[in-house]
Amino acid sequence: MSRDFRRNTFRVLFLLAAAIQIGSGSSLLAVTPPEPPAFAERQKERDDMVRVGFKGFGRTAIGDAAVIRSMERVPRHFFVPEAAKLRAYQDGPLPIGYGQTISQPYVVALMTQALGLKSGMKVLEIGSGSGYQAAVLAEITPHVFTIEIIKPLYEAAKGRLKQLRYDSVKISLGDGYYGWREFAPFDRIIVTCAALHIPPPLFEQLKPGGKMVIPVGGNFETQRLLLVTKDESGGRSSQTLELVRFVPLIRGAPEK
Ligand code: SAH
Repeated sequence: MSRDFRRNTFRVLFLLAAAIQIGSGSSLLAVTPPEPPAFAERQKERDDMVRVGFKGFGRTAIGDAAVIRSMERVPRHFFVPEAAKLRAYQDGPLPIGYGQTISQPYVVALMTQALGLKSGMKVLEIGSGSGYQAAVLAEITPHVFTIEIIKPLYEAAKGRLKQLRYDSVKISLGDGYYGWREFAPFDRIIVTCAALHIPPPLFEQLKPGGKMVIPVGGNFETQRLLLVTKDESGGRSSQTLELVRFVPLIRGAPEK
């Protein structure tokens, strides 16, 4: 084979490859921006949290592949204050300021699994807190809506979600008791603060066949984590999943 022939073959192949790239809409110079570094940090701890930390006597098994994948991926350490970062992958709640807490990872997994969330579903969260639960939901479906009542927490959660490029999540400052009428109805609703009763506006904003996970009970008592279902004719049924302790759902207008 002559050297010229080889050189020409190489040129043809190169031009062919370039044409394919241009034809597929991507430029030769286009580079995908690297992922925020937090996703690569502390992976082993996240894997252990899910594979070992979630298991325990009397606990519901977390077997939903989408939930496992999501919680192995979302960097929880990015959502907690500096002083709590070391403990980010222990199975406990952590303070996030303003008297609020980011829930225990197992409870996040249990609630997310109970929702039976599928890609493409629209989900509303009440109580954005750190933004962690919203990120866990966003790994499963791009249609995530979340409401927070405490302004500095709302702002911090919004900033974190943006930094990690969860751009599809919509976050609002307000009293989540009333839901988010503009985007209703929702396939799923998850409430991450304890209510004294199931807020009627939230049940109203659930699609027929929809599900809501919500802790119900007073502040100084053990609450019941309920899975509420709305049947096709709008009827309600509910089932207790677990006994839990959540911070209370606060009522009233947030400070703007
Ligand atoms: N899901 C959060 C943790 C929730 S802590 C996370 O992943 O970090 C409960 C949150 O509910 C707190 O941030 C609290 O401010 C918020 N909250 C309490 N009452 C609320 C209300 N009426 N509407 C919206 N958020 C509320």
